[in-house]
Amino acid sequence: MSFRRPHLLGLAGLEAEEIGDLLDRADSFWEAAGTPGWRATKSPATARLSAVNLILEPSTRTRCSFEIAEQRLGIEHLSVGDERLSLIKGETLVDTGRTLRAMGVNVFIVRHPEVGAPARLSEELPGAHIVNAGDGTGEHPTQGLLDLLVLRRRWGSLGGRRIVIVGDVLHSRVARSCVHGLAALGATTVLCGPRHLQPEAGGWPGSSVAEDLDDALAGADAVMALRIQRERFTAGEALPERAAYRERFGLTMERARRLPSETLILHPGPFNRDVEIDGEVIDGGRTEVWTQVRAGVAVRMATLTALGEALEASSVETGAPAGAWARA
Ligand code: ASP
Repeated sequence: MSFRRPHLLGLAGLEAEEIGDLLDRADSFWEAAGTPGWRATKSPATARLSAVNLILEPSTRTRCSFEIAEQRLGIEHLSVGDERLSLIKGETLVDTGRTLRAMGVNVFIVRHPEVGAPARLSEELPGAHIVNAGDGTGEHPTQGLLDLLVLRRRWGSLGGRRIVIVGDVLHSRVARSCVHGLAALGATTVLCGPRHLQPEAGGWPGSSVAEDLDDALAGADAVMALRIQRERFTAGEALPERAAYRERFGLTMERARRLPSETLILHPGPFNRDVEIDGEVIDGGRTEVWTQVRAGVAVRMATLTALGEALEASSVETGAPAGAWARA
């Protein structure tokens, strides 16, 4: 089953085959993702797309890789953040979306601090295709896909694998998307970190919760360290103390040395060196972190192509002009 949805809002609820289709597409863009100046031959599917990257929270990897993906696919696009938009004059997100829609924009890449903001746009902007590029503590599906891609390229298949995710899982949209994607593809996750930064045991599919990192790492196929998301802490939530946190939950050089060489080490970035992961571990060359960044371009090219093809197919089926699909 190929991915044929009008939006990519999350990995929760996607079938394994849909995820597999997006990963297959991303694999086909692997060389393109690492080649400066690569350009796709124009396809009718992507020629009809006009994208805006609506990035309303800080972003380096996601914003830049969407822009590069759009350029390499020859998709008309622009990137804007809130400091350059009338949102700061009091305009609502939906009115900003409608304004861009009236200019013919039909793909919205949306990063927003509120959970559900991209989903709201998908309901309010008929004919537009929305990609969630990170909504608060909600989901970050293209990040989840790029992590799955890196693992699948290493292992061939994810079935039966065990991945430890360590850190501030509670506030992490990356963790949530990963856990859903991994569960769909038959892998299990162990969520580890300070108890108050973990979801309720059993709350996330295919996952269990552990408090001791060294125990959790025994027999793990991969480990992903997460940043403490200070900006998402609410009043009353205690920030862990840096040195004590590193001691218990950091991927220190000492821990990295004890891991078998085949255990993969991931981090979505940005890193806080010597807190959740030692700078020496990153610089030592045995992590997947730069491969993850390259996978980000491939996955975003895959997502845009899949949306373009779905749009193309729906307008052929319904006879409706491209862009009118979500209304149909
Ligand atoms: N870049 C990821 C995100 O946007 C992870 C992080 O910020 O720590 O969620």
